[in-house]
Amino acid sequence: MSTIKLEIVTPDRGEILSKDINMLIVRSTAGELGILPRHARLLTELVPHAMRVKVDGGESLVAIGGGFMEVTPELITVLAKSAELPDDIDVDRAKAALKRAEERVAAYKQTTKETLIDIARANSALARAKARLLVKNVPFN
Ligand code: ATP
Repeated sequence: MSTIKLEIVTPDRGEILSKDINMLIVRSTAGELGILPRHARLLTELVPHAMRVKVDGGESLVAIGGGFMEVTPELITVLAKSAELPDDIDVDRAKAALKRAEERVAAYKQTTKETLIDIARANSALARAKARLLVKNVPFN
């Protein structure tokens, strides 16, 4: 099966993954995208989500806290604000972050010019925490 190289880099931890893969499924601001080897050049923004990495018939997940993805026919570079492989994730920390974010989102009764940025920030924290729990296969509602 043909492959494409995936590199994931974060500001905090540098390169967290460099691997030849068969397919990558990501969530961009424009929706879900599947990237196969020899994909056309592309630059897109990613939202927080659990990225799906397909290799040799199997699939693994990586928690992505948003960022950017550049694709060339041979290389996918993900410049992530944060990224964790399953073994890196502290489940209790993610559960606590989820609870805090849910409480913050619920506290904003209505969207106004003043609350817009705070609500977006709380929703982003919520999505990061959910992505981490998804990667660890921990249920949440
Ligand atoms: P928290 O409120 O728990 O800090 P957060 O979503 O605000 O969560 P980020 O700002 O996205 O955290 O990440 C800051 C750093 O902490 C990054 O290096 C990220 O990889 C790491 N990190 C965040 N949450 C976890 C977690 N649950 N397990 C392991 N590493 C984490």
